[in-house]
Amino acid sequence: MDLDLPPGAEELRARVRGFLAEHAPGGVFPADWNRRLARAGYVAPHWPRPWGLEASPVEQLVIDEELRAARAPRPSNQIGIGWAGPTLLVAGSAGQQERWLPGILDGSEIWCQLFSEPGAGSDLASLTTRAVRDGDEYVVTGQKIWTTFAHQARFGILLARTDPDAEPHRGISYLVCDMRFPGITVRPIRQMNGIADFNEVFLDGVRIPVDHLVGEENDGWRLAKVTLGNERVSLSGEGALWGMGPTAHDLVDLVREHGGAADPLLRQRLAALYVEAEVLRLIRLRTVSARVRGLEPGPEASVRKALADEHGQHVMALAVDLAGAHGMLVDRGPCGSTDPTWPLGFLFSPALTVGGGTAQVQRNIIGERVLGLPRDPEPSRA
Ligand SMILES: Cc1cc2nc3c(=O)[nH]c(=O)nc-3n(C[C@H](O)[C@H](O)[C@H](O)COP(=O)(O)OP(=O)(O)OC[C@H]3O[C@@H](n4cnc5c(N)ncnc54)[C@H](O)[C@@H]3O)c2cc1C
Repeated sequence: MDLDLPPGAEELRARVRGFLAEHAPGGVFPADWNRRLARAGYVAPHWPRPWGLEASPVEQLVIDEELRAARAPRPSNQIGIGWAGPTLLVAGSAGQQERWLPGILDGSEIWCQLFSEPGAGSDLASLTTRAVRDGDEYVVTGQKIWTTFAHQARFGILLARTDPDAEPHRGISYLVCDMRFPGITVRPIRQMNGIADFNEVFLDGVRIPVDHLVGEENDGWRLAKVTLGNERVSLSGEGALWGMGPTAHDLVDLVREHGGAADPLLRQRLAALYVEAEVLRLIRLRTVSARVRGLEPGPEASVRKALADEHGQHVMALAVDLAGAHGMLVDRGPCGSTDPTWPLGFLFSPALTVGGGTAQVQRNIIGERVLGLPRDPEPSRA
């Protein structure tokens, strides 16, 4: 694995520093910073122009390093930037891209994902929300669940059945739903960390214009796979909570700074955690290295999500154990830390192996598509 930066990297680094000096002099970020960052192509540098910079993985690393070093804020629109936007890039019309991508990139329009239903999670293709064509509109009726950010979102990517007589995978269409359309009711679901990030969404005769259809009618399953592929990659960055939040290294640093791991068993777990984090880091670098050589990310991408989710749970569980009796309180972290990310992250961590494809489903994917094992039986296909 050759991870030397190519000759152009330093030039790019200087350009990013120049941008920061011009738009955030003295480390002060203006009110319209997100828009400036988006316009410069630095929010999703790998996207094609004019939305991104067509940056290679190494160029992305350089840009990311510089923005991190400058503590530059980034627009917060995980679903929009992470997986709705990339799907619009693949299948959205020019008009759809011009209408929706700027608001996605600068975070002024939050997006949500209306896929899961009470009876369709892992087996997403069995979804029953209906979209019936009526002139220039689809009339959509059904229920979605676990819709993260639906209460804040301006738009949602929506899967609905347009041909109930076709095979489950073939009768689905991919629509963009304006969350302000009449007929939408959003009901929050409170999680055990006290936060209501996700919701039930009821769609009752919601009229969605036909020009909100992405790609062809009944071709939604193909696009759903594009979305889910991007979701899996987005959810397996370095932070313990789907790429966000603290890392195993943060935990090791805390213990180094404050002591607190006199117990040999805790020390052993800390060492094991460090090793897991290193393995994940190397898998990530392997993916980068493959992409630099023009190869698609191989089995690493599926393996990485499966490992990263469990790693996140291990980080949070050890953090709570290191907090000792204080670990029972919601405002105490390990080694005397009062950073609420630790206790809240611990309470969130069981969700890591459910959302974005459960741990079992990841293993099915690895078994079938990576190891070439026989397919999981699908009773609905006889
Ligand atoms: C924090 C969080 C945020 C989420 N945000 C969103 C969102 O924004 N939008 C959205 O649409 N959805 C969202 N989801 C929903 C998520 O996609 C589903 O929870 C997930 O797909 C699993 O579906 P399910 O909950 O219906 O479980 P089920 O599919 O009913 O699974 C139940 C159990 O059966 C197992 N199982 C199912 N099928 C198989 C199989 N073939 N082989 C082996 N085991 C199997 C599963 O692994 C699991 O243990 C979110 C979930 C979480 C936890």
